[in-house]
Amino acid sequence: MSKVLVINAGSSSLKYQLIDMTDRSVLAKGLAERIGIDSPKISYKAGETKVEKDADMKNHDDAIGFVLGFLTDPEIGVVKGMDEIVAVGHRAVHGGEKFNKSAIITEEVMDTIESLIELAPLHNPAVIMGIRACQKAMPTTPMVTVFDTAFHQTMPPIAYLYGLPYEDYQEYAIRRYGFHGTSHRYVSARVAAQLGRPIEELKIVTCHLGNGSSICAVDGGKSVDTSMGFTPLEGVIMGTRSGNLDPAIVSYLAAKKGFGFKEIDNYLNKKSGILGLSGISSDFRDVEAAAIAGDERANTARATCAYGIKKYVGAYAAAMGGLDAVVFTAGVGENDPYIRGLVCKNLQFLGIDFDAEFNMKAPRGQEICLTRPGSKVSAWVIPTDEEMVIAQDTYDLCGK
Ligand code: ADP
Repeated sequence: MSKVLVINAGSSSLKYQLIDMTDRSVLAKGLAERIGIDSPKISYKAGETKVEKDADMKNHDDAIGFVLGFLTDPEIGVVKGMDEIVAVGHRAVHGGEKFNKSAIITEEVMDTIESLIELAPLHNPAVIMGIRACQKAMPTTPMVTVFDTAFHQTMPPIAYLYGLPYEDYQEYAIRRYGFHGTSHRYVSARVAAQLGRPIEELKIVTCHLGNGSSICAVDGGKSVDTSMGFTPLEGVIMGTRSGNLDPAIVSYLAAKKGFGFKEIDNYLNKKSGILGLSGISSDFRDVEAAAIAGDERANTARATCAYGIKKYVGAYAAAMGGLDAVVFTAGVGENDPYIRGLVCKNLQFLGIDFDAEFNMKAPRGQEICLTRPGSKVSAWVIPTDEEMVIAQDTYDLCGK
């Protein structure tokens, strides 16, 4: 028994993958969308089989019912029965200070996730719904949660404290948590493997650049700093999130626009970033097309975003007192050579001998080095695989 089901539940969506841990192959995967709203849809892909259909899903229980129905279907399914699934791994966003690693789900763990809802009001309730739905359908199958924040729990106070009265940290748990931990953990381990060196010896800056983006300083395999903070809003400019701001802008802007708390939150999370700067789209592909067509505002939006990322590379090299590798991952990091090129431009002084020409034509979807042979510090594209980390942690904790 080596098959692990990975569930990533959002408030109205649920992504799933069934992975065979003997050879780490993905047997089936898919996405349930618009759960509990109008026209819900579900997709299923297993080998050559692809299904996409409307499905009556009022809640996450219904969605899990469809997922298990697909997986065990006599014709297109990949398992004979649910007992072939050894464990379920759930992605959870916020583990607060309570979880520094993945955990087997017990009622106590569920209570703790519930107690952290205040810190992740959009995400943790969805995780709880996803777990409860799976527990109902598979009451005897062990389950694990893998937290986005856990990898960053090694940060020292100098990295996680804000310059606020210390009581705010003590009373309200206001501190830097960081996110995308599974991705930073995975790509930093992979680059160490590529370099053929123990991760304990390496200083790595990992750049997870997707719709949401974060940079992480990984020293000796441990996160020592990261750009996202109390929430995923802090750090570099993202698809629709502003990233770092002078905090005084918040009240100024709210006053100018007549915004309340919710509206300003929505503005900074949904209307800003690359979307707001370019006035075109949150998708880097659209902004790139506009920039190539001569749109100066689009060009500036991209350049501003890349400049912010470059500053983190320098800051984290200074924080770690050295640098061995820079890694690019996620949608933008893996597919947008222009942003990578801007970030790595003129970093020879740091020891990065970047091959700009090769970067522009580097093949996609594989682990690839972007620096010239002999470069003191290497730069890499490492495709991320958060589902595989979740499956591996789950299998390690309860599959063997
Ligand atoms: P998420 O944070 O939602 O997991 P992803 O890591 O999937 O996001 O990244 C999605 C983003 O990647 C898209 O919004 C788009 O901006 C960017 N992207 C994907 N493909 C390309 C491409 N070929 N060129 C530039 N950007 C791309």
